[in-house]
Amino acid sequence: MQERTLTAEVAPSDEVTIAGWVHEIRDLGGIAFLILRDRSGKIQVKFEKDEMDDEIVQTGLDVPRESVISITGVADEEPRAPTDVEIVPTAIEVVSSADTELPLDPSGKVSADLSTRLDNRTLDLRKNEVKAVFQIRSEILRATRNAFRELDCTEINTPKIVATGTEGGTELFPITYFGEEAFMNQSPQLFKQLMIGSGLERVFEIGPIFRAEEHNTPRHLNEATSIDFESAFIDHTEAMDACEYVVTAAYEGVAQNCIAELETLGLSDEFSVPDETFPRITYQEAIERINATGEVDEQLLWGDDLPTDGERALGADVGSHYFITDWPSAIKPFYIKDHDDDETLSTGFDMMHPQMELVSGGQREHRYEHLVDGFEQQGLDPEQFEYYTKMFRYGMPPHAGWGLGGERLVMTMLGLENIREAVIFPRDRQRLSP
Ligand code: ATP
Ligand code: MG
Repeated sequence: MQERTLTAEVAPSDEVTIAGWVHEIRDLGGIAFLILRDRSGKIQVKFEKDEMDDEIVQTGLDVPRESVISITGVADEEPRAPTDVEIVPTAIEVVSSADTELPLDPSGKVSADLSTRLDNRTLDLRKNEVKAVFQIRSEILRATRNAFRELDCTEINTPKIVATGTEGGTELFPITYFGEEAFMNQSPQLFKQLMIGSGLERVFEIGPIFRAEEHNTPRHLNEATSIDFESAFIDHTEAMDACEYVVTAAYEGVAQNCIAELETLGLSDEFSVPDETFPRITYQEAIERINATGEVDEQLLWGDDLPTDGERALGADVGSHYFITDWPSAIKPFYIKDHDDDETLSTGFDMMHPQMELVSGGQREHRYEHLVDGFEQQGLDPEQFEYYTKMFRYGMPPHAGWGLGGERLVMTMLGLENIREAVIFPRDRQRLSP
């Protein structure tokens, strides 16, 4: 391709070729301006009608907005231009013309509802404030990967097509796999645990999870990105330390490397990196505090799941990220270990943002007999999970870990109202395309 200079890199007196989208055309009569946009920013192109080749003027001013064009010209200093330089074109080419009627206005002057935006994500991501969300998401992934490396983890990828789910039949999407029933995996839980007994010891995975949840909420997707961590020879408290470390690193990465994006989103002033120690409160304390807020219809009892309004009331009370620990074993999955001195008490924990759950984790049951009993108690057939339990007979160290919802991290960090804004092409009850 012809060499191209990004608009942000154009300096006065350069002879350059720039290429990008027609953001705006302002025709003032004898003089007209075209604003060209590329990934680095925008630049002004000046058309002095009497002094320029008619064909260049006509091509430049007749091209529909949002078309892709390429312009060659000389850059002049121009203090009145948005970037202090403007281009006087000597050649112009329409590379790809856009329809004059667009389903979405990328300049944002005409607002669009979320559904229209999601149907036209390509156009939607031409808007700076939408693009910024995904640049920040990208930084969050980079920073979390980096934090995991600092924790000496190996990145793994586990299968998404599986024979059995992590927690049995609920919330699984069935598929046909060469004539056999299979499922889309709802969590890498069992696979990452299998790697604990391998030579890797410490692993992480960032990948999709699939959940056939029927409900339509602002914080659930049917395909989400799970940021998973698992390590040998640590307990649940050390897993919580790792969780604080990784989540804080994500915030730090954004604070350091996404200054312009935060400004675009109007978050520069309010954005702050959380303190690395998140308060740890027990489930017992959590239900007592929720009950004391008076925000729940019925007083919570030991063993109840925390209702959404209860979580919110507690979150407002705590006012920062926090952990809920020591859950009743009965409401945590079978692969989570109980406390050694109390079988009714689980080592499971949740890490909460004031508005919602971000992480679930715990120490795992690594003792073969206890694990098999756990399957039976949960009404699952241990034979179906033999590929998993078997490896616990060949030397499986104690271990702990967690799963963090990637979109929920983006959403809570940026104060997005709907989780669908944190994923480019969301999958939900209504949406299977694009
Ligand atoms: P919730 O109770 O909020 O539905 P969960 O307890 O069922 O979540 P886990 O199985 O604990 O979810 O999964 C670990 C993390 O993955 C959650 O804390 C959340 O951040 C994220 N997550 C789980 N399910 C979804 C989903 N359907 N959409 C988006 N994120 C999800
Ligand atoms: Mg959970």
